[in-house]
Amino acid sequence: NRAVEEGAAEIEYTTVKAEVINNLVFVTSEAAPYSKTGGLGDVCGSLPIALAGRGHRVMVISPRYLNGTSADKNYSRAKDLGVRVTVHCFGGSQEVSFYHEYRDGVDWVFIDHQSYHRPGNPYGDSKGAFGDNQFRFTLLCHAACEAPLVLPLGGFTYGEKSLFLVNDWHAGLVPILLAAKYRPYGVYKDARSILIIHNLAHQGVEPAASYSNLGLPSEWYGAVGWVFPTWARTHALDTGEAVNVLKGAIVTSDRIITVSQGYAWEITTVEGGYGLQDLLSSRKSVINGITNGINIDEWDPSKDEHIPFHYSLDDYSNKVKCKMALQKELGLPIRPECPMIGFIGRLDYQKGIDLIQTAGPDLMVDDIQFVMLGSGDPKCESWMRSMEETYRDKFRGWVGFNVPISHRITAGCDILLMPSRFEPCGLNQLYAMRYGTIPVVHATGGLRDTVENFNPYAEGGAGAGTGWVFSPLSKDSMVSALRLSAATYREYKESWEGLMRRGMSRNYSWENAAVQYEQVFQWVFMDRPYIN
Ligand code: ADP
Repeated sequence: NRAVEEGAAEIEYTTVKAEVINNLVFVTSEAAPYSKTGGLGDVCGSLPIALAGRGHRVMVISPRYLNGTSADKNYSRAKDLGVRVTVHCFGGSQEVSFYHEYRDGVDWVFIDHQSYHRPGNPYGDSKGAFGDNQFRFTLLCHAACEAPLVLPLGGFTYGEKSLFLVNDWHAGLVPILLAAKYRPYGVYKDARSILIIHNLAHQGVEPAASYSNLGLPSEWYGAVGWVFPTWARTHALDTGEAVNVLKGAIVTSDRIITVSQGYAWEITTVEGGYGLQDLLSSRKSVINGITNGINIDEWDPSKDEHIPFHYSLDDYSNKVKCKMALQKELGLPIRPECPMIGFIGRLDYQKGIDLIQTAGPDLMVDDIQFVMLGSGDPKCESWMRSMEETYRDKFRGWVGFNVPISHRITAGCDILLMPSRFEPCGLNQLYAMRYGTIPVVHATGGLRDTVENFNPYAEGGAGAGTGWVFSPLSKDSMVSALRLSAATYREYKESWEGLMRRGMSRNYSWENAAVQYEQVFQWVFMDRPYIN
């Protein structure tokens, strides 16, 4: 753990229930199953439940997105609490209301406002990102700061002694508001905040002139004020001045958590810091990395409702039936013996899709099948369609976001490829290992932390390891790792089953992570004890 070596305290494991019960308030732009575009949604949909299970009082606040599709029914059990709050920002005032559902021990609270009602995903539509995202998430943060004060959930408000868990830049204004708008007036003196960084690449950067929109006192500009590096400026007269919400959250939050230990270190480097590495380095004594868990009920091959056959560590003979069903569903030749490689994820430069495109022709020479599921970069989407036409017997590209298909690919494939350029934690490799599907990943961030490299030449093929971890990030090293894995699948059945069994028998539950979060909660209050 490099973050520990460089100053952060080590987290101790305990197995006891929470000793100190906290009022926890998660603020997030996504929470599954209500809203999800990636890992942030998964984490904010399951970590709160694990913490509630350990005795904490937990609220999760996110927008009530209505996009006119069947997904709207996700909110059908959430009822209007009848509480209205007026938020002052963007030169005017906005009224928001609050919807609420109590489920799995957690208060799920949804902020309602017309700007969350439109087609698309939480951030944009087919034309790109929404132009008013700064407004939409400013509103979320202001409303979230009011919620613990005004919402009588189960008869009682959460009150001022709340611990806010703010996720990524969309929620980043919360700790700044606590410091600038509430504490100077004696409110939230005893509240604390932890920033959870799921992805540092998105920071909520907007022109400096937009500062007045945020609803912060003018003397707080320094918290969010940021200067672009010279190379990123577009004009000689451009001074590079901007507001950066995530920067403000890094400055004002009490502690910072990243979603893996590797990423806690990477964000302090030039390569991984996206311009914030010096600031993050200056705060490294309060940064901890905690590897995400997964929702082991949703992702369980012995009862997954999205897959046609069930299997487990005790008997995984049905896994190959899942593969044949997938081949049939995709219209590929039904060949149980042929290694099948999958990719699931956002089609984004971060995910190394350019490398897959470059390696495509090389891979198609081999006797394999390859299926990709994802949406995002339109060029990659059309590349997937053209590959499918050229290699009818080998390649399938499914453009879109489809949770049931993602489960069937995870169960049906033999190998899951993740050539991410950077990966704060990564969840698909965890799902894959739990489903006996062997991950082949680039050695970065959470991928390096969670996948143990297998060396087929050590101990006669019976050595440790749960997948292949390749480096450097190049076409050649990725193709060699894939070829080695396909060869192991074809020719070394015992080694392959060893890899499957080791992956399937790991504990991926949130329990470990929840205990580590509690350790950090304890430190937050030790760092700055209550005033009264
Ligand atoms: P990130 O948060 O960077 O997108 P993660 O690996 O942490 O990456 O989480 C991605 C989550 O989103 C996983 O649950 C994955 O299965 C899901 N996902 C990504 N793309 C798709 C898609 N096209 N269809 C269904 N699920 C997807």
